[in-house]
Amino acid sequence: RKIELKGREESAELLQLIRAFNQMIERLDRTFASQKAFVADASHELKTPLTVISSYANMLKRWGRNDSTVRDEAIEAISKESERLQKLIKSMLTLAEAEQEDWLKLETFDVMQLSDELASMLHTTFHRTIRVHADSDGNGIRMTADKDKIRQLMVILIDNAIKYSKDPIDIVISQTRNMVRILVKDNGIGIPEHEIPNLFERFFRVDGARSRTTGGVGLGLSIAKRIVDLHEGHIDVFSKPEKGTTIALQFPKKTC
Ligand code: ADP
Repeated sequence: RKIELKGREESAELLQLIRAFNQMIERLDRTFASQKAFVADASHELKTPLTVISSYANMLKRWGRNDSTVRDEAIEAISKESERLQKLIKSMLTLAEAEQEDWLKLETFDVMQLSDELASMLHTTFHRTIRVHADSDGNGIRMTADKDKIRQLMVILIDNAIKYSKDPIDIVISQTRNMVRILVKDNGIGIPEHEIPNLFERFFRVDGARSRTTGGVGLGLSIAKRIVDLHEGHIDVFSKPEKGTTIALQFPKKTC
């Protein structure tokens, strides 16, 4: 509970202490409220696929033995929803991990090389064209950061570009004296302007139905934002419906 400031009779030092204490309580309140909201949202998200699974399991029990159409439909739905549950739980664990960790395993690496590696891996998996460009020859754009986390962040952004656009996807890397800038650009369905401020909220999807069919669970950009914040970087979204989306990342070359 916050301490009421009565004012004049308190010494300056005591007032300062009370203010700091109150700020701490406010921060804790916000954290508790956000944890509560997360548990409520997570429960809702987990309940939906579970309800589908349990209804189809009941259908199987009742009619599955005699009706092959019911059987096929139920098996298909159960397997799809279980996959979704798995994905959801995996993303929730990744987010919880990212929120708990506040340390970075720093190393110096070549950003162009990492992007090339990711482009080729994702091309092999999804058969999509991902082009990597750099303002100079690209060699020598190096940064000191947690390479695994930057890889994870770029996979999230490229994976979104894959889900919500057609070819090609472009990764553009540039640098100034102290900063590295990475753009992930697509020519896809885009995001309405008024939705952009909500994108980093947990479980947020621009269009629930659309994202459900692409398999999105609405946690990717929350994880991405956390990784950017840990590196004291910036993430900006530029998007136009039906024209495409560019996610711009900016990092200090050296994260302290
Ligand atoms: P999801 O797992 O649903 O993709 P994200 O947190 O990564 O969750 O993204 C939140 C929402 O933002 C998505 O559901 C999607 O509606 C929208 N979005 C993200 N990236 C793009 C993109 N490149 N193009 C269009 N919409 C996007």
